[in-house]
Amino acid sequence: MTFTVAIDGPAAAGKGTISRGVAGKFGFEHLDTGLLYRATGRRVLRGDDPVTAAGALQAEDLLGDDLRSGEVAQAASRVAAIPAVRAALVEFQRAFARRAGGAVLDGRDIGTVICPDADVKLYVTASDDVRAERRFQELRAAGADVTLQSVLADLAERDARDAGRDTAPTKRAEDAFLLDTSGMTIKAALAKAVQVVGAVYSSGG
Ligand code: C5P
Repeated sequence: MTFTVAIDGPAAAGKGTISRGVAGKFGFEHLDTGLLYRATGRRVLRGDDPVTAAGALQAEDLLGDDLRSGEVAQAASRVAAIPAVRAALVEFQRAFARRAGGAVLDGRDIGTVICPDADVKLYVTASDDVRAERRFQELRAAGADVTLQSVLADLAERDARDAGRDTAPTKRAEDAFLLDTSGMTIKAALAKAVQVVGAVYSSGG
């Protein structure tokens, strides 16, 4: 059995927590596709060519706390605007989406480009202030020396680049369920996502 859940949205909207939660609830595997772009960005920061880097990714590229840093996030967003980088990562993501037992993929273009025929699509968003505050708390908890202002500026820059690029911009698929998590606890947001996915899954896809 294959069953694909596509979860898209801007940075720090709660996609990661919701995706992991949905995957756990239904026993699906989860792929955070942002990691592929972050790993490519980190290789570029170390001197690699972007397209070569994307094509050469190995499992160990997806490890390391520095993948979560602001510097790597910005590098990821820059390489993600290069069509040949995106093309190099398509097949891996599609193969993951088709894996037996069900898959949840989260990113920016899953419901629009990678898996336009996904069984369920969610577009998870939240206001700029709420997203910045959440990311700020996350980074502070991880010991990063950041200010709320710098986090807000970083997210705004990345969102503008991700939504404004020509290839696979961040966009809600027309048939995606819109989940605005601004005024919700993460627990409530996850419960809603589980309900939306469950309604399709229990009816046999
Ligand atoms: O989701 P995350 O913040 O980890 O993603 C890092 C960057 O990777 C994003 O800012 C975006 O530029 C890029 N990305 C993308 N398409 C995806 C996932 C991430 O372009 N499916």
